[in-house]
Amino acid sequence: MESSNYYRTTAATDVSFPALSGKRTAKVCVIGGGFAGLNTALGLAERGVRDVVVLEAQQIAFGASGRNGGFVFAGFSRGPESLLKDLGAQRARNLYSGTTDAVDLIRRRIDQYRIDCQHTDAGVYWANWFRDPAVLRDFQRMLKDGFGNEWQFVPAAELRELIRSDRYSDGLFERNAMHFHPLIYALGIAQAAAAQGVSLHERSPATALVRSGAGWRVRTPEGEVEAEQVVLACGGYLAGLRADVDAGVLPIATYVMVTEPLRERMDEVLRTRAAIYDTRFAFDYYRPLPDSRLLWGGRISVLDRSPAAVKRLLYRDLMKVFPQLEGVRIESAWSGLMSYARHEMPQIGRIDDGLWLGQAFGGHGVAPTTFAGEVLAAAIAEGDPRWREFSSYGLVSALKPAGFAGAQLSYWWLQAKDGWKARWG
Ligand SMILES: Cc1cc2nc3c(=O)[nH]c(=O)nc-3n(C[C@H](O)[C@H](O)[C@H](O)COP(=O)(O)OP(=O)(O)OC[C@H]3O[C@@H](n4cnc5c(N)ncnc54)[C@H](O)[C@@H]3O)c2cc1C
Repeated sequence: MESSNYYRTTAATDVSFPALSGKRTAKVCVIGGGFAGLNTALGLAERGVRDVVVLEAQQIAFGASGRNGGFVFAGFSRGPESLLKDLGAQRARNLYSGTTDAVDLIRRRIDQYRIDCQHTDAGVYWANWFRDPAVLRDFQRMLKDGFGNEWQFVPAAELRELIRSDRYSDGLFERNAMHFHPLIYALGIAQAAAAQGVSLHERSPATALVRSGAGWRVRTPEGEVEAEQVVLACGGYLAGLRADVDAGVLPIATYVMVTEPLRERMDEVLRTRAAIYDTRFAFDYYRPLPDSRLLWGGRISVLDRSPAAVKRLLYRDLMKVFPQLEGVRIESAWSGLMSYARHEMPQIGRIDDGLWLGQAFGGHGVAPTTFAGEVLAAAIAEGDPRWREFSSYGLVSALKPAGFAGAQLSYWWLQAKDGWKARWG
């Protein structure tokens, strides 16, 4: 599918970085210019490591980071209740708090680097698609007891005043959450890193990664980087550099569309500036844009569909929730690939001497990639061992051996999906 989307057409067009050409050395070479790679590069620069090269195969934030729903909220793709079961209270809290801190760090960076990314700090609603309020009450209690996080219960009548749909029963409101234009933010942190000495290169796919003394040599079509340390951050757009790394994740597509400006019709739909998603496994997610358009996302699929097909599918979903918008024009639609690990947690850490990984952020990656950038930058710059907190999620062992069959991963995916459905359905 073409890369052009609403975000591309509304972000600055004059931010670009040259392709890598010729040979150079660097302390760190980051492969992948999405949020995971950019946050690592910026985290390194902020810690005084400026001899950093970022290689992006296409354009900065070409992948999920420049296509996503723009929700900035705490947590991972793997739910917090699963973290508690997997890790116990203290370790689960340590990981979860990394994502709440990341939401704060994103706010700080927006201010510090003056990134005009339309951020709307108005919270996020989690609307119950099902009728049983226990789903929400249990979740609310678990978050409070397990993580000290307060999400507010919103009774159905109140929710319906804000979200003008009969589809939902009650909802929960996460106040410490916001939404933004993810591509403008990505370009903003790329520029912030560049201003601090990081070299960014677009149209520079890493085509080979080989050992070179104690470090690594990374080749691109027109250049080469000799680096002491390499960070792989290629998400669902698999780099093709290490079979075990690519086999560790399953790329899954999800879709987004943007309506024409709704103007006064917006009032028939939303009376809140918050973003909204629902309690199903493959949930709808949507938010009002500053120019009165509605950005609407949903579905998960192994298919990267055409814009016309995405429009058709998502329009149908939109009609189920807001039939009052019948006939609304859909001006833009696209898909993007998320990367999921079997355990639905990011794979963050060292996988070889001088070789680091930050991938598998799934559909919940804006805050976690920011957290990962901090963890990886602190590990490389300061020897900080925090990355080991992710070791239960297979920083090494969950990475599949070379050639691991995609079909197997698909099976795991469906299993995980069914487990969730059974729990929430
Ligand atoms: C449609 C959609 C909606 C989403 N909505 C939300 C949301 O609202 N909130 C949220 O928290 N999360 C959301 N997510 C998830 C979130 O966007 C991702 O988890 C996050 O952006 C992943 O960042 P990343 O850097 O790991 O991957 P990506 O952003 O995909 O970046 C990987 C980059 O690596 C590059 N690359 C690949 N191979 C090479 C190579 N060999 N050499 C150089 N570069 C290479 C790619 O071109 C790509 O730019 C959504 C995802 C999608 C697809």
